Amino acid sequence: MNFRDVRMIPCLLASCALVVVGALGVRADEYLSGIQWSEPKVVTPGKTPGAPPSDAVVLFDGKDLSQWVGAENWKVVDGTMLAGKGDIRSKAEFGDCQLHLEFATPKEVKGKGQGRGNSGLFFMDRYELQILDSYNNKTYFDGQCGAIYKQHPPLVNASRGPGEWQTYDVIWMAPRFQDGKLVRPAFITVLHNGVLIQNHFQLQGDTPYHRPPKYEPHPAKGPIRLQWHGNPVRFRNIWVREIRELEKRRVHEPKIVKH
Ligand code: MG
Repeated sequence: MNFRDVRMIPCLLASCALVVVGALGVRADEYLSGIQWSEPKVVTPGKTPGAPPSDAVVLFDGKDLSQWVGAENWKVVDGTMLAGKGDIRSKAEFGDCQLHLEFATPKEVKGKGQGRGNSGLFFMDRYELQILDSYNNKTYFDGQCGAIYKQHPPLVNASRGPGEWQTYDVIWMAPRFQDGKLVRPAFITVLHNGVLIQNHFQLQGDTPYHRPPKYEPHPAKGPIRLQWHGNPVRFRNIWVREIRELEKRRVHEPKIVKH
């Protein structure tokens, strides 16, 4: 018996077992949850890694700043978006979402700590995922690149060097408010250059510099904000997908049926 034949043995045994089961009339059990799900929508993935899937809202594709407000001092340079004076906000608003963004801190290293390659990616205009040049640049850990600002450092420092393109892939679950009260906090999961740095972290509230975090009721959706912090950080390839749970309805109690 050669090697290829040996690999066939499990398949042959399984086939024999099925024949025996069939001959004996033994019936198989099947578990049915009783939940009828809506059919998952077809989404065409991006052609290359990081490219927007078919259902993404593209916020910057290298051409113009038409998807942003407040961008008078930001520029499009060689297909990238160069930060200028003033924060910018997306016209589209989002609640739960998946976001992809690429950024590069300045190649020319200037300043240190929070003064080097600082920007920020804000969800719903108020929850900051820090953008900073954290390549050989020490600062307080809950303020370094990938931190939820003043709340939680990145699990690891996955930063690339100054001037190099870096990626953020984020799953954002928005907080829920009811009758002016928080009923579910926000959660965030972040991959930085493909490395997990925030793992379903539960936010304590917003992320200001000057006071502890707190939740203030706000609408179910809000803009994405990119921060101007005095440093010419560049951006490219920014897109967002809304996350929608499938619809479901119970059609019967869970059961096991015989086939
Ligand atoms: Mg910042």
